Amino acid sequence: MSDPMNVLAPEHRRLRIGDAWRDAASGATFAVEDPATGKTIAEVADADVVDGLAALEVASKAMAGWAATPPRKRSELLTATYRALTERSEEVARLITLEMGKPLAEARGEVAYGAEFFRWFAEEAVRVEGRYSSAPAGGYRILTVPKPVGPCVFVTPWNFPLAMGARKIAPALAAGCTTITKPAAQTPLTMLFLARIMEEVGVPPGVVNVVTTKRAGEVVSALLVDSRTRKLSFTGSTEVGRVLLRQAADNVLRTSMELGGNAALIVCADADLDVALDGAMVAKMRNIGESCIAANRIYVEESVREEFTARFAARMGALSVGHGLDEGVDVGALIDEASVTKLDELVADAVDRGARVLVGGERPDGPGHFYPPTVLVDVPEDARMLEAEIFGPVAPILSFTSDDEVMAKANDTEYGLVGYIFTRDLQRALRFTEGLDTGMIGINRGLISDPSAPFGGVKQSGIGKEGSHEGILEYLDLTYAAIDLP
Ligand code: NAP
Repeated sequence: MSDPMNVLAPEHRRLRIGDAWRDAASGATFAVEDPATGKTIAEVADADVVDGLAALEVASKAMAGWAATPPRKRSELLTATYRALTERSEEVARLITLEMGKPLAEARGEVAYGAEFFRWFAEEAVRVEGRYSSAPAGGYRILTVPKPVGPCVFVTPWNFPLAMGARKIAPALAAGCTTITKPAAQTPLTMLFLARIMEEVGVPPGVVNVVTTKRAGEVVSALLVDSRTRKLSFTGSTEVGRVLLRQAADNVLRTSMELGGNAALIVCADADLDVALDGAMVAKMRNIGESCIAANRIYVEESVREEFTARFAARMGALSVGHGLDEGVDVGALIDEASVTKLDELVADAVDRGARVLVGGERPDGPGHFYPPTVLVDVPEDARMLEAEIFGPVAPILSFTSDDEVMAKANDTEYGLVGYIFTRDLQRALRFTEGLDTGMIGINRGLISDPSAPFGGVKQSGIGKEGSHEGILEYLDLTYAAIDLP
């Protein structure tokens, strides 16, 4: 197979600002590495504040024209993006794997998922509606007029280099907004490739801008305090999200925040254990566990704990670890050495406090940032991994004896992104659905992400929804007009 980097020509490894692909004003670049080998795969432009503001200038100049573009035309450009991504799926997937480390099969899944946001929001673009009604007391009418919020700043993480950007760019464009995306410094290439694809399908200059930088703090903050910016959508850690919310407050920006999670996955004794095992494997191991919706704590009802644990550990132990581009690999490289060290420390902390390792638990020697699938039991309540986002292939299995007890434990976290419940008892499932303080719940399913469903958390997992009809509303303001009509 050819080098995955061939799809992104050197001239497109630069900033996408307006109709240009250009170097940073300072001429600086930074290296992107393959996490499976530690080798540099590309150099990309390292923007500073001047470049960020140049992107904002073109995004704000393009705003009026794009907002006035007929919805059908905007929709067609989104459909063309969906088609191009689908046709070029293999190229995009290989690029994702190369810069992020996930196995190729999962990267293909991400392309399908990411592309689907363009198809979904192509359909939403032509269904933006206001309302017309009579004032209850009579005498006048009420008209609501949806309008695009304005130029948007997007800051995205490395774990889904395509999809996390797609689920912001697609609804923004559908609503008539222009965009500046700052992808994660560790995975900028996929977003540059998306911008190139959108240029090729004919999205007008200035509508999709991409600014790669190693100086996220300075560049993003300059964009957020500039009054031309009207919206921030961020996906990343709660810690950085809090910083950005404070900065966005100065400019009173609309914000959508998709932050961290600490999902509990609950297996009841009446569950179909085959279904629960499949669900737990997906919820834990999708994306090598580097997912905000990954199962962080697995609670199994005491009477089935032994059987579930033995079968889950056997499946985890059978997964093959290696370079994501190699055939048959289930678990690719983690994003960086810090992630491996963090897992090592979380496992050591749990073991120090009395946990037992059933599978894995030893970081391998050699190049690349690998950590084996790991299962722990007898994990005490004060183990750090029950509070922190594990963000890797490590699964603590805990037990419970009553629904109230496990519900309280599941909710005992600052996060509120997702929970998973496995049971054949409908009432029990609904009680958990009502009782878990999370924005999303998987019932007998470990995979919940779907562009047609509203994705988002509560508590410190975030504000707002991505995907679904709600996703486009995040990019629309409503003007209300009172019309005198006695
Ligand atoms: P992160 O460290 O918060 O970084 C996310 C993005 O923010 C990156 O582009 C990063 O740039 C940028 N950034 C970092 N510090 C910044 C600052 N001071 N000002 C402006 N931008 C800044 O998160 P991550 O490690 O990339 O991603 C993992 C996190 O994302 C996890 O917490 C995960 O749960 C969360 N996540 C949430 C969702 C969701 O939908 N709720 C989905 C996926 C991931 P650099 O790359 O240059 O540091």
